[in-house]
Amino acid sequence: GGPNAGGLAEPGAKGYNPAEVKANGGGVPVSNYSLQPQFMGREGSKDVFFDPAELGKLQGTGDLEARVGGGSGYEAPGGVNAYYAKPMPDVEVKGEPVEALAFLEELQARERLVKDKDGKVATVLGIGPCIGEDAPGDIQHVVLSSPPGFEYVEGQSLSVTPGGKDKKGKPHKPRLYSIASTRYGDLCDGKTVSLCVRRAEFSDPATGEADPAKAGVCSGQLCDAKVGDTFKVAGPVGKTMLLPADPSADVIMVGTGTGVAPFRGFCHRLFMEPTPAAHTFAGTAWLFLGVPVSAGLLYPEEFEAMKRRGGGQLRVTTAISREQQNAGGGRKYVQDCLREEGVEVFNRVNAGGSIYFCGLKGMMPGILEAMESVAKEQGLSWEETLNGWKKNKQWHVEVY
Ligand code: FAD
Repeated sequence: GGPNAGGLAEPGAKGYNPAEVKANGGGVPVSNYSLQPQFMGREGSKDVFFDPAELGKLQGTGDLEARVGGGSGYEAPGGVNAYYAKPMPDVEVKGEPVEALAFLEELQARERLVKDKDGKVATVLGIGPCIGEDAPGDIQHVVLSSPPGFEYVEGQSLSVTPGGKDKKGKPHKPRLYSIASTRYGDLCDGKTVSLCVRRAEFSDPATGEADPAKAGVCSGQLCDAKVGDTFKVAGPVGKTMLLPADPSADVIMVGTGTGVAPFRGFCHRLFMEPTPAAHTFAGTAWLFLGVPVSAGLLYPEEFEAMKRRGGGQLRVTTAISREQQNAGGGRKYVQDCLREEGVEVFNRVNAGGSIYFCGLKGMMPGILEAMESVAKEQGLSWEETLNGWKKNKQWHVEVY
């Protein structure tokens, strides 16, 4: 018992008031950092806790275990709930059995803690499809163990070196994948990192026939991975896609396909995990997501759950190109949604919000055109507006 760092009473202590604790941006005080040997002695000042039952519900399909396990059989030791509900043996934990990773709240984005040449082994803990069977292509959610000392923040990428040799007999070059989880990882133990990987397929432009000989190496290995398979990983990489420091700033996210990955991380941080970041977020998060067919919407249950939880603070606008039409009668893409909502998007960014773009390179020309036309309609110079947003670090693009 006794007051924690924030002066609030702990569970079981006199005066403990969960609502007050929550309102102050904290959770159950962290009892014991030594649950995680590699984090011993490293303490953050904020209190964090996770309620596995709540997290499970938020996954939308029962629990995280069931969802990730929908693929090739996720095997967390004792199940995800057991993972949290019980302290590790030999460790005396007083009060609530909670995970103790408060210092992760203090993380600043750093790059290349693990360099490619020193790549570390990551094991596949879970893999499962994140789009429906009726959607074209193959996109998998892959949960990997993250090597000790590998810490990342939302919006960074993981470097993955595929196994085997290239055609010249040399080791393959590393590929980057946006991290789709928060710094806590999908198991909230700070020991995993999740990716959203699209299998790169190749079809003959003339015949349309698939050519497996030209299929993507790394994405193929990741999408075919089984629980227990290992990959050489390094990173984290990138500081382009970081959440704003100001918790009242709006967060506008524009993605196509796997471009949703960093935004899943953002939204989990803002709406799913009961951390100080979620408690203090006072802005609006608005996701624009473009996919070809509705079965291709990524993580739909999660976004539904987060919208409910966000109570209006999370908005999701989808463009489903093969099912919806734009004003001109053509296929509807994200840029058409941006055009429709342009005035509000501009107002939000001009009021201090940040706008993020992620997905295939090909999405940007259409988006820039749409943004320019919205500027023109409002009598604004697009060049000046964009330069201002870039200068203030409100404009973030990561396309590949
Ligand atoms: P490669 O083997 O490198 O092949 C590349 C492409 O060439 C493939 O499309 C392949 O089909 C084609 N090809 C192969 N052989 C031939 C040939 N002979 N002739 C013509 N074409 C051929 N991807 C994701 O899925 N999810 C992400 O979140 C993600 N995030 C990224 C973030 C960043 C910052 C960057 C830079 C990239 C990201 N990528 C992401 C892309 C990813 O890094 C890889 O580029 C992608 O997975 C393809 O790699 P691969 O090894 O599978 O394909």
